[in-house]
Amino acid sequence: MSARPAPYLDDLNPAQRAAVLATDGPVLMLAGAGTGKTKALTSRIVHLLMTGKARPNEILAVTFTNKAAREMKERVGRMLGAAVEGMPWMGTFHSISVRILRRHAELVGLKSNFTILDTDDQLRLLKQLIVAANMDEKRWPARQLAGLIDHWKNRAWTPAKVPSSEAAGFNNRGTELYDRYQERLRSLNACDFGDLLLHCVTIFQTYPDILEQYQRWLRYIMVDEYQDTNVAQYLWLRLLAQGHRNICCVGDDDQSIYGWRGAEVGNILRFEKDFPGAEVIRLEQNYRSTEHILAAASGVIEANSGRLGKTLWTEARGGEKVRLIGHWDGEEEARWIGDEIEALQRGTRQLAPVSLNDQAILVRASHQMRAFEDRFLTIGLPYRVIGGPRFYERLEIRDAMAYFRLAVSPDDDLAFERVVNTPKRGLGDKAQQEIQRMARSSGVSLLEGARELLAKGGIGGKGAGQLRAFVEGIDRWHAAVLNTRPELADAVIEPMLPDTAPNRDHSHVRLAETILEESGYTSMWQNDKTPEAPGRLENLKELVKALEQFDGLQGFLEHVSLIMDNDSQDATEKVSIMTLHAAKGLEFPVVFLPGWEDGLFPSQRSMDESGLKGLEEERRLAYVGITRAETLCTISFAANRRVYGQWQSQLPSRFIDELPDRHVDVLTPPGLYGGGYGAAGMGAGFGGGSRIEERATRADVYNSPGWKRLQDRSTTRPIAQPRESRSSVIDLNAVARFTEGDRVFHQKFGYGTVAGIEGDKLDVDFEKAGVKKVVAGFVTPATE
Ligand code: ATP
Ligand code: MG
Repeated sequence: MSARPAPYLDDLNPAQRAAVLATDGPVLMLAGAGTGKTKALTSRIVHLLMTGKARPNEILAVTFTNKAAREMKERVGRMLGAAVEGMPWMGTFHSISVRILRRHAELVGLKSNFTILDTDDQLRLLKQLIVAANMDEKRWPARQLAGLIDHWKNRAWTPAKVPSSEAAGFNNRGTELYDRYQERLRSLNACDFGDLLLHCVTIFQTYPDILEQYQRWLRYIMVDEYQDTNVAQYLWLRLLAQGHRNICCVGDDDQSIYGWRGAEVGNILRFEKDFPGAEVIRLEQNYRSTEHILAAASGVIEANSGRLGKTLWTEARGGEKVRLIGHWDGEEEARWIGDEIEALQRGTRQLAPVSLNDQAILVRASHQMRAFEDRFLTIGLPYRVIGGPRFYERLEIRDAMAYFRLAVSPDDDLAFERVVNTPKRGLGDKAQQEIQRMARSSGVSLLEGARELLAKGGIGGKGAGQLRAFVEGIDRWHAAVLNTRPELADAVIEPMLPDTAPNRDHSHVRLAETILEESGYTSMWQNDKTPEAPGRLENLKELVKALEQFDGLQGFLEHVSLIMDNDSQDATEKVSIMTLHAAKGLEFPVVFLPGWEDGLFPSQRSMDESGLKGLEEERRLAYVGITRAETLCTISFAANRRVYGQWQSQLPSRFIDELPDRHVDVLTPPGLYGGGYGAAGMGAGFGGGSRIEERATRADVYNSPGWKRLQDRSTTRPIAQPRESRSSVIDLNAVARFTEGDRVFHQKFGYGTVAGIEGDKLDVDFEKAGVKKVVAGFVTPATE
């Protein structure tokens, strides 16, 4: 090593430094959340480059999300400065696999411009196959088959390799359909998500010379979030790393949360077997969270069995305890959190103003997001949803993407089907069937089928002219794509340098606009008089704008099919909303964890399962959630929740009981001590998770065991009120507003007169309901 000072080592602790300096041979870094695993990994890359141990293209770093890859690139770039030219290969398993696969596509029967299917396409295709196999698609839904095939692919099983013990699924026809599906994908020049890895593994296993080439190239391999690799990913890694054996994996068994997708914590244990002599490094100091947050997280995860076990400590003493609050329903929860976020943004007694960028809401299920989106739209609180390719799921975006796909790969039949008659070209079902028949009989794509049909005069009337224009359009756009990215014509990109230079002249952006105009797609929406049309045009504009960040249409399509994160990079401050799964590896000063209710979190499925596997995975998810927070973590739950349009009464999550008392502050739930609610009880049955027509009354809810337990733990410290007008939470200032004899109004009991005052509660003599004790925050001075 050079004797020059190495600033990138200065801010590491001894264990981290050891991990950075142990460059040769296998290394396993096993440590809890926030201990600086990712930081050490990043420094390791910098170290390899700065000491000249590796050139950029000899390093491969695998991250879990594209966002993580982007952040790592930025950090490495900053730390390197101008010292080294070029960047290592950093990306997700999938994005790296796409690159490899494009170079060798023909070895698995694809062309280099293959399309990556989205779930929609995939389901449509499977459905066709199920119907063609004379199976009842109601009884045997495509979704189930998709899950099964996914499960097999995650284990790196091609149809021939599915073990007979597993092949009984889907009415004994799973493997047969899987085989046909793969066949169909090949003929469409397409692959699904799981194929990206599976095909790579197949290529590596079948062509040793190709594998060897990569093994020689990749001197150093690094993997973050290693605990979540599945078998296919593990094989992929093991094959690549067997060359130089310089592989460094970092992970945390307590954060393994993708078991449902085939991830195997066992891979951590397997590592030492496959790479004997691996150096195992443990990190114990957490640099992210305060003592209370860390202790709360540790308290929860301790309930799991079979952990590798580790010590975690932090120097960050004190700070706020983890806050726990119950709400009446999901909407109230969203309202309260919205108010809190705004209050924190303005600055509170305890905390300096917290930027919206530094606040996040982490939900268990994506259906929880709606309540927050609705509320934030109402109060004008800027937010971004991370983790769901929401934008790209919209109709107009998917249509536009189909056009782009055709321009890149004219043989993309699924894209052809989608837009051949959108906008209307007079090509109804009958004409489309003709095209399909022609394509099938000649064994060509739909585009070529259409071309033949036109040549033979097999289509008449207005449709013929329009179909011709459509076909010619695709030809023209495809030629233009090849023009903007000449290397696509001949897909061999040597040497294997990861990032091609961005296409700065933006010719692909103009091409995208041209495609949308010439196809008539833009004018279709311009002429549309429905109220949604202007919004759709806006979205199309946004789509074209998004293209600017990419070096070509193909790169863009790839990005969209791979995204796990679609956070736009505009400069406005925004609160982040995402699922707990998407939050892995991230950190925020302020974190809200709503919906901690049995049946939601832990999920119903995990509770119904026999055995503890599912429940333990949920608990790890809780651990991931809490450990994302740096200074303030708020856990909440609601007594009533509307799930897919139906009210459900809820019980606080069992994980709440596992939070250690000493590190938790139980905030007073709104209305809990008011007594005003539930007086006119409807007596609706209250039980956790039961479906009910009528919502339970507050009295029923607050007297239920889960809530009673909370009251016992409650510090009865009422919540400081951010903005009284928007919240139904107890308003401390309200008391001073009333004196005996004041005429007041209460939402439920109507008009009355204040008869007595006791703390924040009032005795009110209501005209209709008689004397009741109510919380001052719930009455307003009468205005009539
Ligand atoms: P997770 O398990 O959640 O992925 P992690 O182990 O990867 O966490 P990092 O994200 O790398 O942890 O680090 C957590 C935080 O601690 C970051 O803000 C990082 O900058 C900081 N940090 C890590 N190591 C040190 C150190 N030695 N000194 C100061 N801060 C550090
Ligand atoms: Mg990390």
